[in-house]
Parts: sequence; C-alpha cells; structure tokens
Amino acid sequence: MSTATAYAVSAPDAAFEKIAIERRELGPYDVLIDVKYAGICHSDIHTARNEWRGTAYPCVPGHEIAGIVAAVGSEVTRHRVGDRVGVGCLVGSCGHCDPCLAGEQQYCENGAVWTYNSPVPAEQQAGGRTLGGYATQIVVTESFVLAIPEGIGLDVAAPLLCAGITLFSPLRHWHAGPGKRVAIIGMGGLGHIGVKIAAAMGAEVTVLSHSLSKQEDGLRFGAHHYYATGDRDTFKKLRGSFDLIINTVSADLPIEDYLKLLRLDGSLVALGLPEQPYSVRASALAGLRRSLSGSMIGGIPQTQEMLDFCAEHGIGAEIEVIAADRIDEAYERVIASDVRYRFVIDAATM
Ligand code: NAP
Ligand code: ZN
Repeated sequence: MSTATAYAVSAPDAAFEKIAIERRELGPYDVLIDVKYAGICHSDIHTARNEWRGTAYPCVPGHEIAGIVAAVGSEVTRHRVGDRVGVGCLVGSCGHCDPCLAGEQQYCENGAVWTYNSPVPAEQQAGGRTLGGYATQIVVTESFVLAIPEGIGLDVAAPLLCAGITLFSPLRHWHAGPGKRVAIIGMGGLGHIGVKIAAAMGAEVTVLSHSLSKQEDGLRFGAHHYYATGDRDTFKKLRGSFDLIINTVSADLPIEDYLKLLRLDGSLVALGLPEQPYSVRASALAGLRRSLSGSMIGGIPQTQEMLDFCAEHGIGAEIEVIAADRIDEAYERVIASDVRYRFVIDAATM
C-alpha cells in the first residue's frame, strides 16, 4: 500500500479538505500513476453533493486524470515507467459480458467499476468505495490506463478523458461527418470539446447556448452557427434543421422544443444528467420519425481512438488551471456557468 494526498468532501454540504488516503499495493497488472492534472467534471459536483443519491463519504471525485507512470506490476506490458497516461471514468469491468467483449466496458452487464464512488471489487480489497483523481497518486489496472500521445499537453488532455470521450462516442455512433448537421446544446465542459471534435469530423456544427455571450469562442472552436435558446425566434428559425442534436445541459430543458429542431430520422441524444425526468409526448417523436436516445462516456478502445484523433487534429480542452485549495470556488463557478471551459486541478499544489 502507498499513501497519497487527496481532496475529499465528508458530507454533501461540506467543503473540500486535504486528507491522506491509501492506494492498494501494486498487483501484477497494476500501474501506479503520479497524477499531474485532474479536470473538474459536472458529474463530480452531482456526486460530491449527493444529487444522484448514493454517495459514500469521504468522497474523492475526479475522473479526468492525466499523469506519469511511476511504477508497474510484474506482468504489465502496455505501459512503462515515465509514460504519459490518462484515466477516465472507468477502472474496471467484468471483461466477459457482450458489451465488455465489444470494448464497451461502460455498459458492462455485471456493473462497471467507476473511478470514484464505486464499490471496490472484492479481489482488490475488502469493502470501501473507489477514490478518484483529486489526488497525488492512483493505482489502476493496466487495461484501463490510456496512452496520452505526444503533442497534447497533459493539462489540456485531462478533460478529454471524460468530456472528450463522452462527445466523441455519440458523434461517431450517429455518424457525424460531412453532410451532417449537428447541434450541440450547452457550451460548457462537454459542449466546447464536442464543438471542436464535431467540426474536426467535418460536420456542420451549430451551438445552442442560452445566450450569445460565448459566441466568439464557439466560432473559434469550429462552430459554423451559434444561436441563443433564450430567444424564442431561434426555435422557429431552426425547426426541422438537424440530423443530430446532442444535449450536454446539466439542468432541465423543455425537451420537446428541441425535438422539433430535428429533420426526418434525426436523433436527439441525452448526455447531461439532470435530476428530473424528460417529458415528451409521443407525437413529438412520431412526426418526422424522430429518435430520443442517450449515451454514456465510451469504451476503452474508443477512448484511445479519441485521444489519437485529438492529437492528430490539435484538439485539447480550453482550461483554467487551479490550485487544489480552490475546488469549492471552482464548483460554484461551474454551477453559475462561469467557466471557460474546464477547471483543471494542478496536483503539484496538493
Ligand atoms: P458544465 O461545464 O456545467 O456545462 C453545462 C452547460 O449547460 C453550461 O455551460 C451551460 O451552457 C448549460 N447550462 C447549465 N445550466 C443551464 C440551465 N439552467 N439552463 C440552460 N442551460 C444550462 O457541465 P459538464 O461538465 O459539461 O456536464 C454536463 C452534464 O453532463 C452534467 O449533467 C454531467 O453530469 C453530465 N455528464 C454526462 C456524461 C455521460 O456519459 N452521459 C459524462 C460526463 C458528464 P450554455 O451557457 O452554453 O447554455
Ligand atoms: Zn465526467
């Protein structure tokens, strides 16, 4: 076992505090990583504050991890000491169900092991929950450790491990590319990377943001059009426009208004995970044979494909690097949509 420094909350309304945590002893297939940067995802906030219920405390969030390999177990072949690596939302899965065999470990039928707040598998240690990346070190099975290509800084790569793959996967699944009109609702952490990736795939990209305050940035990230959803005219103008609409918003939206923006056979994909259910009349789907679907991060092979794609296209997150003692303040700014566009914790400040 080794001891790491981490930032944890002890209750839904508690502030972050520095604590010492134990990382498991290296098994033959384990990799010990010195964390360099950890992104702050809105899911960290939902979990730290128990908005999805079921959070165990102390809770150490963080599933956008970039760092350097510090040590490897005796049987590790994929990574070597000194390699630049990343860890996303997943640190384990059964490995033998159909989704796992297809490389879609996030849909493991026997329950994926999430990077934080997941019961620790019995073979690793008895009891407890996984503790995430707001820490100086983490131990992860080699098959869940990604290689970060040279050419992307570790700081701007960290958010790709969740936000990047969460957008890349549905964009690939619904064939974003030349001739496809793609709209992204919400230009926050997920949304801004989605704009960059969708544009690099060759799609015609529209941002649907609640105001025009970030329009210049959106166009710089590669969007072709930018509309304010606070303006009712937007919904009249864009009726029947899109093949694919990706909803990254963490709050409740009038989803039928957005469904009407789809063309024939278009799909609206839910990525944001608000507390309240969607309310949709069947007629909003039946007209123009529209689909409503959802998507959860992406599997390990596709996460590597996404990192390689981002390196090739010069894509990284737009970030604001913060010291670990400013996490509480960063959370408030994310909730107020006052982030350009991802906070990343510098682990050296722990
Ligand atoms: P974020 O950085 O806070 O971005 C969310 C964006 O939604 C904001 O920037 C804002 O964009 C818009 N928004 C926020 N509040 C709004 C409101 N009241 N009305 C309208 N628009 C609002 O969050 P994130 O890290 O990108 O995460 C977004 C959501 O995705 C969270 O619910 C998170 O848990 C979920 N998530 C899902 C997955 C998955 O696998 N499905 C993975 C990661 C995260 P504008 O200012 O442009 O309107
Ligand atoms: Zn996330």
